[in-house]
Amino acid sequence: MSHAQYFLEATYLIASCLFVLGLKGLSHPDTARRGMIMAAAGMAAAVIGTLFHPDIHNYLYIAIGLILGSSIGIPMAMVPMTAMPQRTALSHAFGALAASMVGIAEYVIHGSKLGPVKVGALGLEVMLGSLTVTGSLIAAAKLQELMRGTPIMFKGQQIFNLALFIVMVGSFVAWIVNPAAQMFFYTMVGCAFVFGIMLVIPIGAADMPVVMSLLNSYAGLSSAATGFVLGNNVLIIAGTLDGFSGFILSILMCRAMNRSITNVLFGGFGAAVTQETAVTGSMREVGLDDVAVQLAYANQVVFVPGYGMATAQAQHACRELGNILEERGISVKYAIHPVAGRMPGHMNVLLAEANVPYSSLYEMEQINPEMQSTDVAVVIGANDVVNPDARDNPKSLIAGMPIIEVDKAKSVVVLKRGKGKGFSGLENPLFFKPVTGMLYGDAKTSLTNLVQAVQKV
Ligand code: NAP
Repeated sequence: MSHAQYFLEATYLIASCLFVLGLKGLSHPDTARRGMIMAAAGMAAAVIGTLFHPDIHNYLYIAIGLILGSSIGIPMAMVPMTAMPQRTALSHAFGALAASMVGIAEYVIHGSKLGPVKVGALGLEVMLGSLTVTGSLIAAAKLQELMRGTPIMFKGQQIFNLALFIVMVGSFVAWIVNPAAQMFFYTMVGCAFVFGIMLVIPIGAADMPVVMSLLNSYAGLSSAATGFVLGNNVLIIAGTLDGFSGFILSILMCRAMNRSITNVLFGGFGAAVTQETAVTGSMREVGLDDVAVQLAYANQVVFVPGYGMATAQAQHACRELGNILEERGISVKYAIHPVAGRMPGHMNVLLAEANVPYSSLYEMEQINPEMQSTDVAVVIGANDVVNPDARDNPKSLIAGMPIIEVDKAKSVVVLKRGKGKGFSGLENPLFFKPVTGMLYGDAKTSLTNLVQAVQKV
């Protein structure tokens, strides 16, 4: 081995260790930041090591790619945190596109001269990569609300999907048997691109967290397969870590939402009849002073943050209100739904940023039994995660998804701007219940005004 190769393998080893340590760090909020820094350092080590690869003789294209990639990547990283899920979906699409293109290039260069193991890995890489590209783009469009969030279905969809799947896998197998047959290879690629679209369009917006983590897993497995094709150890390790952690996350998200993976992936493929509960009556608007009095004389107040708190950046005002109530001897708790917001741990991150202690954060299973003894539940820009239809209406699109049962509290105050629906596009019967009062306005403004109003009580 040359010095350059020793250096390369050493940096890959360091990078792999940093990825493992980074992943370990991400398992707890206290160590998550350090975990991210380690993973980023690992990626930097892998990139720097690769620049010393003995096969690289000309740095011009690499420099062009670096400039192009950075000029796309830097603005992409500047998006507000509320847009992070769609940004992540785009990253998955780019990563998977890179894996597919490397695979296609390898096939174009080496053709049928690739050994049987490499042919299998390459086929898997290109198939998973291609369906992840289009699937992630559709997920990004749904998350950005460029496409409607409710499932998109059409007549004969199930048969079409099944036929597509058979042709895609059939072409994959036929190509492995005869790698010289380009037709099978390119049919597989084409079918995989269409399959990615078909996989995601019938999935409702509320189930997007599971789809995202599953696409993350596919992108990782595709990169691992790329590693086998190129004989690149760091790609195999990083891709496998990504693939399996994404898969474990999908299972955890499914559990949190009381879904089975097959139900999420194939539920939309069937002709499930969904029906919203017909809501009657009107929403009852409450005034700032009324809410301030309720809060000031409560024994226990539970804040339930959702996506609206993130868009309003209301976490600091929420913490300030919490502090004032605690100073008055009121018990204040923060209820965290696992899919509140737009990414796993979204609410934890925001509340941690506002210095809310972890001991004040309660998971759904911990807080629900306490709801009946809660005087005021304050819903801050949450909607789907407090929608009682998920519990009460078996025909609802979100039926079975566990919710924070704020409707069991003695009083509910909902902070939102108007009559906007949740991410699932469903009406929320909670807002029409007699126990609920609506405090309209931007969540940050409402909370800031409440801080002053409570101080005057
Ligand atoms: P949500 O269902 O998206 O509802 C958010 C509510 O916030 C809206 O009804 C909106 O009503 C209100 N809002 C928006 N901006 C506001 C502002 N500035 N001030 C006050 N209110 C504001 O949110 P959620 O209850 O957190 O549920 C999350 C949803 O996202 C679930 O369906 C989940 O499955 C999905 N999802 C989650 C993840 C994840 O990993 N966490 C990822 C992808 C998708 P107005 O317009 O009337 O103000």
